[in-house]
Amino acid sequence: MKQPIPRYWPLFAVLFTLPAATAELIPDPAHDCEYCEGWSRTREPIRIYGNTWYVGGGVSAVLITSRDGHILIDGGLTQTAPQIAANIAKLGFRLEDVKLIINSHTHYDHAGGIAALQRASGAQVAASPAAKRALESGGPTEDDPQFGFGPAHNNFPAVANVRAIKGGETLHVGDIAITVHFTPGHTPGGTSWTWTSCQASQCMNMVYADSLNSVSAPDFKFSADAQRVKTFERSIDSVASLECNILLTPHPEAFDLEAKAARLAAAPTPNPFIDSNACKAYAAGARERLAKRLAEERAMP
Ligand SMILES: [Zn+2]
Repeated sequence: MKQPIPRYWPLFAVLFTLPAATAELIPDPAHDCEYCEGWSRTREPIRIYGNTWYVGGGVSAVLITSRDGHILIDGGLTQTAPQIAANIAKLGFRLEDVKLIINSHTHYDHAGGIAALQRASGAQVAASPAAKRALESGGPTEDDPQFGFGPAHNNFPAVANVRAIKGGETLHVGDIAITVHFTPGHTPGGTSWTWTSCQASQCMNMVYADSLNSVSAPDFKFSADAQRVKTFERSIDSVASLECNILLTPHPEAFDLEAKAARLAAAPTPNPFIDSNACKAYAAGARERLAKRLAEERAMP
């Protein structure tokens, strides 16, 4: 009797010893919203500084690389996840080397692509306890100022297995150490991130500061809860006090990406992203807008 096993065995051996194929990203359905077209515009990836790269388009996504794995901050909209994956590949990095995905805040324009990016990369997702609740439920929690916009507007693909992290904790991937700063206000679980990137022998304090805008659904009042206001103000103050040489934010307009990228392309030194006043200025703008918003709320009948 013929033995089929030896005949097929070499084929199996080849299949199982081939290098892993490049991770394929299968996107979730596109989100539909007023600003989604602009937010989902594509952009060439660029090196911001050292091992920090901008891999987003109209909304930010930041890749921090090391020889032993990478960190990705924010996943954009559902429809921008493939652009992020393509930008990572364009830079010569592999999506499957992204070991950790983290997030600024759990709105569909920054968290919508995380589920697909997690599936394709196998990365761990880590978030504050409040952000973990939102990510795992696939939408903002009830105490989110924008909750009242409703599920059709707000919801995004739920993310599985989110690891809860603590404020002040430092997460490690390869030789990257990234520190967690809880900055609730725009959302209850909002988080800002700091790390160091070096180029030649110069190291910079990098900050990915969360959105600090006091935006809400209609009928929501920040001023209805004094503790909420105090918490928001404390978050703004904490961003102002960060060691900060280079500021990045979830919406690229807030750190003037396009103008700075154009200057960087024209003349790499001095790097136009370096601005040690940027976090203070960003916080000052947020403080002013929150004060204005509170005054408007108090003037309402
Ligand atoms: Zn938001």
